[in-house]
This record gives sequence, structure tokens and C-alpha cells, in this order.
Amino acid sequence: MQKGKIGVTTENIFPVIKQFLYSDREIFLREIVSNAVDATQKLKTLASKGEFKGETGDLTVHVTVGKDTITVSDRGIGMTAAEIDRYINQIAFSGAGDFLEKYKNDANAIIGHFGLGFYSAFMVSKKVEIVTKSYQEGAQAVKWSCDGSPEFQLADSDKADRGTDIILYIDDDAKEYLDENAIQGLLKKYCRFLPVSIVCGKKKEWKDGKNVDTDEDNIINSVEPLWTRTPSELKDEDYKNFYRELYPMQDEPLFWIHLNVDFPFHLTGILYFPKIKSNLDLQKNRIQLYCNQVYVTDSVEGIVPDFLTLLHGVIDSPDIPLNVSRSYLQSDGNVKKISGYITKKVADRLAAIFKNDRKEFEGKWDDVKLFIDYGMLTEEEFYGKMEKVALLKDTDGSFYTYEEYRKLIETAQTDKNGNLIYLYASNRDEQYGYIETARNRGYSVLLMDGSLDVALIGMLEQKFGGNSRFQRVDSDSIDNLIAKDENKSESLPADRQKLITAVFSSQMPKLEKAEFHVDAQPMGGQGLPVMITCSEYMRRMKDMAAIQSGMSFYGEMPDMYTVILNSDHKLVKDILADAAGACDGKVAPYNGKLDALKARQAELRKLREGKKDEDVPQAEKDEMTQVDSDISAAEKQIADIWKEYADTNKIVHELIDLALLQNGMLKGEPLAAFIRRSVELL
Ligand code: ADP
Repeated sequence: MQKGKIGVTTENIFPVIKQFLYSDREIFLREIVSNAVDATQKLKTLASKGEFKGETGDLTVHVTVGKDTITVSDRGIGMTAAEIDRYINQIAFSGAGDFLEKYKNDANAIIGHFGLGFYSAFMVSKKVEIVTKSYQEGAQAVKWSCDGSPEFQLADSDKADRGTDIILYIDDDAKEYLDENAIQGLLKKYCRFLPVSIVCGKKKEWKDGKNVDTDEDNIINSVEPLWTRTPSELKDEDYKNFYRELYPMQDEPLFWIHLNVDFPFHLTGILYFPKIKSNLDLQKNRIQLYCNQVYVTDSVEGIVPDFLTLLHGVIDSPDIPLNVSRSYLQSDGNVKKISGYITKKVADRLAAIFKNDRKEFEGKWDDVKLFIDYGMLTEEEFYGKMEKVALLKDTDGSFYTYEEYRKLIETAQTDKNGNLIYLYASNRDEQYGYIETARNRGYSVLLMDGSLDVALIGMLEQKFGGNSRFQRVDSDSIDNLIAKDENKSESLPADRQKLITAVFSSQMPKLEKAEFHVDAQPMGGQGLPVMITCSEYMRRMKDMAAIQSGMSFYGEMPDMYTVILNSDHKLVKDILADAAGACDGKVAPYNGKLDALKARQAELRKLREGKKDEDVPQAEKDEMTQVDSDISAAEKQIADIWKEYADTNKIVHELIDLALLQNGMLKGEPLAAFIRRSVELL
């Protein structure tokens, strides 16, 4: 029997391991099982090269949960006493103290750095035994044991079979691992795609109201996961089945991409475009990262471009430095290349589907749009690859590429200043009336109702160039949205304009956080009599404020609406004529007064010109104040006459309410009043 001290420079590494790695300690199982798998794979390699001539036999790795122990047994190459000494006893810990201090919260980093794989067993064990027999002919089986101090014992053993048993005597504070279900769960998490069969316990069966063991071994893993197989041998059904295996509760994926690179790095994997039903799916189901089929993590930020973290699937690469900090990962050259490669692959695949089966692509566009738009918004390179493939959808449900759409609208929707106007709606139902008006003019209206469309519109305007504008259909009257030189009907004379707008503005409701400005424009006899618009600029600022911090100023401003009266419409004309009949006579004397007052105001201003305030005589100052207040009073009187007329005009109220209703702004009591009035008017 040999005794000795493990070659650790830090006096006692085990308490350190325990203390620092506590939160991640479940990975001990991954480390021990993957060592067993490695030893088995090595044996297979030796056998295939003819260097091992015996029977390989059943190579299954067994994980057994006992009363106080967990045992991981393999029938791999085993170790001789000399190998134990080299691989287990001599661990180099140069600068261990510093390193541990730096990465104390990152078990992966520590374990990777020290090649501590095996020693992670001490995170959960008070004693660990290795009972092993090398595959080499005539090898003596040995037993190594260590109780968590740097002292170990090594002695001969009578183990008959080739391979290694690692026996963990579980610590009192790690008893939760002495539960077969818990261990099976961990194996499922970390080992489900390892290349050698792993058995833990027996398959269960429902019998007499209880789950009982059957005789059949419970195999944890599938040894040849789909991504390790040749794409040409696989059918759609295989990819769908694998997806179901990964994400049992998800709908079928839309597309998938089989990744396979050898140079300049190794990477395989399958990425799926999922059908997203809710935000929750995105957070819960994530891309899984593997290293030679061992599960590492599902936080792949920094390895794949941000927008691709929304995808599902697996990436397997031995070349991603897994055991380092995130910031290091992001600056790693290999990782950058990998990220670029994946982006390119995804773009190529989408372009191929678009080219080969545009119908299918269009059919799935609504679901993949989120990924593609996000990618184009965040990765310049991806935009470059997708600009010929990405689609726009109009309110009829037809799809166009950017180029096709530009051609479609170029002639009709270029305004008199040479601007190409892209009309869009963000809600087909709410903006129905506006969409219809635009379409009656022969214009096309895009449907931009996706969650990223606000940002996308901003980007597309830039990309499409200086004279391309996006305008929401309800942001102005259609004649203003796409202004043409055509001979439009005359605008109203200024005083009539004043009268009709005053009549309506006196009756606009006082809504919280909304301001109305009334304007009259000729919009054709077929157009609606009254419509409410919200300026594109203001709305965009508000939309941006909603998704961006630092813009809350816009968010707090009231919504500014323009109420446009169609001066060509018969109802508006009738109201104007009626109002003129009822008010003009009453207003006339005040208008006469106003004219005189304004003339005097102009004279007084002229007298003041070029004078300093102290040089203006007091009498003049007093008169100025008087004139100003007389003007206000006269104006108020005129406004009151108009308002008094409007107060009792049911048609004015009806038209305002209809316009509010069209914009979803009529609710509660005003809505009930509108209905009562409508019934009366009928
Ligand atoms: P790593 O696996 O990163 O080399 P470990 O600390 O996990 O580091 O293991 C150290 C070495 O011990 C391995 O490289 C291997 O040579 C040997 N070893 C560990 N477990 C086994 C096993 N089950 N069978 C044979 N050799 C083993």
C-alpha cells in the first residue's frame, strides 16, 4: 500500500473547491460521467486500430445510486497505478490561489482551468474511491482513495473486470444527490446526447396505482444525436422528431439549418426557427451548447449573434473556449468567426428557401419575420444578405420583396416633390377606413403590425434612400400624404374656414392627454366628412419613447390630433351654410368693431417702432393695453356666438363622434350619448 500527498501547491485545495463551487456543484456528475465516456471511446479507438485485441463487450456506463454512495462504472481503458499517479495525483496548480480568487463564482472556469474534472467529485463527497483495471494485458487492478484531505491511498485491488468504478461517498450536505430521480434528472440534462449508452436505474411502469421498476435498464441518452449525422441521410421527419425531443411542448418548427464545419474551427449543430406563441417560449427554450456532445450551457450570448439567440436547437463545438469568462469569450477570435459563420449560414438557408419555394416562404413569413427583422436591424451584414429576400406584406395579404414593392408603387405613390410614399397601417381593423380611402385612390397600403416594425420602418427609410418616406395611413388626409399637382377643388376663403373650424373645435371633447386641432380641407365629395389624424412624426417619437429610455419627454406629451373637415363634403357644406345663416348677422357688428380695433392696434405698434420702452408716452401704453383687451373681448364674443350655435347642432356632434369612433376614442358615457342621439336622428 502506497501513501502520499497529492501534488497541489495550494495547501488544501478541497475545502476551496467545496466552498467556491457550491452553487454549480451538480456538474460533478457531468465531469465524472464524461470521463467514463472518454475512457470508453478511447478503448473503442484502440480496438479499431488493433491495439486492443480483447473483447470490448458491453460498454454501457452505469450510474448507480446507493444508500450513501453514487458509483459511476465504465468498461473503458482503465488506469494502471502509474497512470493514476500521473493523471490523478499530479495536478499542476500554478498560481491557483490567484485564479481561484478571480473566478470564485464560476465553477466552469475553475474546473476547466485546472483540468479539475475529476476533483469536482469532492464538491459533493467526503471520500472518493477509484477502483480500476487497465485494458493492458496482465495489468494489476488498483484502488485509490482520498478523503478530501490532500492525502491519498493507493493499493492493489481484486477487481476482475476491465474498466473503472468511481465511488463517491456523498457528504452530509449533499444528500439531495442520493436520490435516483435527481440523478436521472441531472443525467438527462448533461448527458442525454453522450456517445456511449448510460444507464441509471430501471425503466418504470405504472402498476396498481404506483410507479414500479421493470426489468429493463433505463437508458438516459441517445448516442447518435441528429446533429452528428450526415444531413443527406436525414429526412424532414427526423428533424421534426429531434425538435420534439428537445422541446416537447413546442409547435412544429418552421425551418431548420444543419450546421457542419471543419475549418477553421469545428462546429456542428442544428438550428431551428421556432413558431413563437409567446414571449415565454423565447425565454424558456433556448439554444443548447454542447462540447463533444456534453451539454455545457443554454446561455449562448456572445457565441451566436444576438438575434439568433431567439432560435432553438443545438450547437456543438470543441473549439469554443467554454471554461472562460463571458467577456473573454466575446473577444475571442474563434468565437467571432463562429458567430459570423452561423449568421451567414442562416442567411443562405433562408435565401435558398425563398428561391426554391417562395410559396412556402411566404406562408411562414409572419412567423419568421421577427427573426429576420431583428437580424437585419442588429447586424449590418445580415441586412446585406437578406435585403433581396425579406418581404413586405400589404393589407391584402400579398407579399413583395423590397424591390418588387418599390416598382409596384413607384408611379402612383410618388408625390409632386419626388418623394416616394410608402403608406402603411399598423392595425388593419382600427385603421380600416383610412386604408379603404387610400385603396380607392389606387394606392397600396402595407401592413406593419409586427412588434419590431416601428424600428424597421426607421431603418428602411434610411436604407431606401433620401426620397422614400413611410407614412401611416391615418397620419394625414390622403391628399396631403401623397400630395399631387392635380387640380383640386378650391380651399375655403379664410373667413369661412375660420367659421367652420370654430364651430367644430368648440365641440371637441376634453380628453386626458389628447389635444385636437381642427382644420378644413377639400378632400373630394366621396371622402369622409370628418377624419382624425395623428402626425407621423409625433407618433413615431412616442413609439420610440415607449421602447427606448431617455425619450420619456415625448412619452409624456399629450397626443396631438388633427381633425380634418372635408370642405367638399355635402354635410360639411350644409353645416357651413347653416352656421353662416345663423351667425353671420350676429357676428357682423363685432367684426366691424374688430376691424377698427385692429387698425388702431397696427397704428399704435407703428408709433412704438424703434423706441425704447421708457420713451413711449404712458397714454400710448395705456391705450395699447386697452385695445388688446378689447380685441380679446370681441373675439370671445364672436367665438361665443359660434359656440352657442354649435352647441345645439346635432349633426356637428354626430360627425365628431363618428370620427372619434373610427379612431377608437369614443367610450363610456360619450359613446352611450352618441348611440342615443343616433337613434333620435333616425
Ligand atoms: P480531464 O478529463 O480534463 O483530462 P480529469 O481530472 O477529469 O481531467 O481526469 C484526469 C485524467 O484521469 C483523465 O485525463 C484520464 O486520463 C484519467 N481518468 C479519469 N477518469 C477516468 C476513467 N473513468 N477511466 C480512465 N481514465 C480516467
